[in-house]
Amino acid sequence: MPPLDSSELQLQIQHRLIEELAASEKRYRELVEHLREVIFECNGAGSLIFLNQAWVEILGYPIADSLGHPIAEFLCEEDREAGVALTVAQEKFPGQEQKELRFRHHNGEVVWLELSVRTVDNGRTVGSLYNINERKQAREELQKGYDQLEVRVQERTTALRETNQHLQHVIAEREQVEVALLQAKEAAEAATRTKSEFLAKMSHELRTPMNAIIGFTRLIMRRCKEILPSKQYDNLEKILISAERLLALINDILDLSKVEAGRIEIHPVNFPLEPLIDTCLHTVEPTVKGEKLQLLKEVDTDLPSLTTDKDRLHQIVINLLSNAVKFTENGAVTISAKRHGEEIMIAVADTGIGIPAPALERIFEEFHQVDGGTTRQYGGTGLGLSISRHFARLLGGVITVQSTPGVGSTFTLTVPISYRIGPPATQDIHLSSEDNVATETAADQKVVLVIDDDPNVIYLLRENLAEAGYRVIGAASAEEGRQKVREFGPFAITLDILMPQQDGWQMLHELKTEVTTRDIPIIVLSVVDNKELAYRLGAFDCLLKPVDRDLMLATLSRITRTSASRTAGALQ
Ligand code: ADP
Repeated sequence: MPPLDSSELQLQIQHRLIEELAASEKRYRELVEHLREVIFECNGAGSLIFLNQAWVEILGYPIADSLGHPIAEFLCEEDREAGVALTVAQEKFPGQEQKELRFRHHNGEVVWLELSVRTVDNGRTVGSLYNINERKQAREELQKGYDQLEVRVQERTTALRETNQHLQHVIAEREQVEVALLQAKEAAEAATRTKSEFLAKMSHELRTPMNAIIGFTRLIMRRCKEILPSKQYDNLEKILISAERLLALINDILDLSKVEAGRIEIHPVNFPLEPLIDTCLHTVEPTVKGEKLQLLKEVDTDLPSLTTDKDRLHQIVINLLSNAVKFTENGAVTISAKRHGEEIMIAVADTGIGIPAPALERIFEEFHQVDGGTTRQYGGTGLGLSISRHFARLLGGVITVQSTPGVGSTFTLTVPISYRIGPPATQDIHLSSEDNVATETAADQKVVLVIDDDPNVIYLLRENLAEAGYRVIGAASAEEGRQKVREFGPFAITLDILMPQQDGWQMLHELKTEVTTRDIPIIVLSVVDNKELAYRLGAFDCLLKPVDRDLMLATLSRITRTSASRTAGALQ
């Protein structure tokens, strides 16, 4: 190939450079056109002189219509001023400026764009617009969420504060109510105490004449049976029944008031159950009307002895038995006893009138009877079951009832074989059933000193004991008693507790600590039932008024037996 001259070479080089320039420009144009950001160029006054395709895509205006207009014209009113400041070339700020601004889309909507701008030479500005609409909207949504959350938190806080205040108010009210309740409870307890004291006093006042009525009636009935016309004898019997009923009611009311005042004490003793059941059957036997009703006993042979309060148990069983007899005309009243684990179940079943289901629970309430007519027809006060249930609970047991009207009822008392709470059990020193049989073969003219402020008691004991060979000396006060003890050196003393000048307990203590009198057996004879205290102070026994002649004679003969065996022991 012939060598090129220099002009040709120059032309070729020029041509080559033009081609390379065109290729480079095409490459840059393609690059710019395919960017997602708007690339713009403004003249010194801020009017657009170049835009890429992204301008159309982001703001919707044709490029040809936009060129020659200031870029600030496309901004929303609020951001226009800031836009002008940025896009008009500034010599003072040659560095890059950046700001988030609101533009107006061709369709009227607001579009958030991030404007980056820089003043270049020739007083022009170049820059880009980056679409931050989505980011901005997301941020706004987030902010809205935050705001809502804050509102809700505030609402909750307010609600909580209100609830708190309400609670404090309620607590304050509760405290006031509690204070009022406590005061009411204390007032009620004080009232109950006053009522119990009143009842105890009244019961004593009522029981003293009642005991006299019963004692004298019994005496006349025994002494004058042969000479009295039978009608008068019947009348006396009626007096006795009414008096005993009245006394039972007084005793019930006193028991109830003691229960209410929490003054019932449990004195557990160890004793076999069957003799107690026999005694109860024996007691209710006279109330059985006619031949058509049988009293039956079904007691397991291998029953263990019980350790519980014998008197309370006796009272419960008597109540259940007498109710069964009272409400049964024909058939049988059966008392059964069996062991059930560590408990004894004593059931009293009858074939009587029965109790309707709705009344079953209420019969245990005080003064409640199945219907008003019951009182008239069968008598009673409606206190027995209530007291029995209280006693059963005090013994750690329960009373349950099953009944079918017209068929019969079964009341079941379940008590622990060994009473668990309370003082340790002591050996039963009460009368055994054998001792209850009257012993009339007393020693010749043994002196019994009766210390009692009630002359009727002295009179009745004298009348009753004289027949059995005892000589009864009376003393109306503790002082007189002391004198007569010295004078007569009695075989035994009966001692009342509630005496006007000196308390019987004090006298008992004195007699039992004084060398000359401490060996004389003393029988506490009172309406006050506190055997434990009596035994602790050294009494031989403690009997309740009204005086039961047979019981008194049995106790006196027990004294005879005890002193005989003591003398024999001393001689050996
Ligand atoms: P009272 O027998 O003195 O009325 P209670 O408290 O012992 O009092 O008995 C309450 C009531 O329960 C009785 O009046 C009677 O209506 C009913 N009741 C008790 N035991 C029996 C029974 N075995 N059969 C039928 N009703 C009974």
